[in-house]
Amino acid sequence: MDCIFCKIIRGEIPSYTIYEDEQVRAFLDIQPLSNGHALIIPKKHFENLYDMDSENLKCIELASQKVAKLLKETLDCQGITRLQNNEYGQEVKHYHMHLIPRYKNKMFKVQVDGKEKLEVEEIFRKVQKSVS
Ligand code: AMP
Ligand code: ZN
Repeated sequence: MDCIFCKIIRGEIPSYTIYEDEQVRAFLDIQPLSNGHALIIPKKHFENLYDMDSENLKCIELASQKVAKLLKETLDCQGITRLQNNEYGQEVKHYHMHLIPRYKNKMFKVQVDGKEKLEVEEIFRKVQKSVS
């Protein structure tokens, strides 16, 4: 199937994977709204919330708790916002939940030209340390 997230699951496209189990995969967003912005997806293809089954909804919810704790433990964030687009506003048509770490006194968007913006590779190294 010509779906970018299915390709990530099959290993045809690389990803900064930070969590994985039998049903789901979590990886860093390549165009992050903040340092540590992650996506959690089911390994099985569902377009969005409307066609998800109850088993996968449960798995995503449980994984989002684990990933939220992982981000909280490894990054110096003060909160985490979850977001999930369906149809309008949904760019990738494979269900995904956004986990966006929040930093006190800052909007989602970190400074692009400022020092606060870390490269995704750098974030990956920080988060990955506690996974392996
Ligand atoms: P949405 O607008 O909710 O469909 O969000 C799609 C998200 O997927 C965006 O934040 C993109 O930056 C992200 N994205 C697209 N392609 C990739 C990829 N290959 N690896 C990681 N994140 C991606
Ligand atoms: Zn897919």
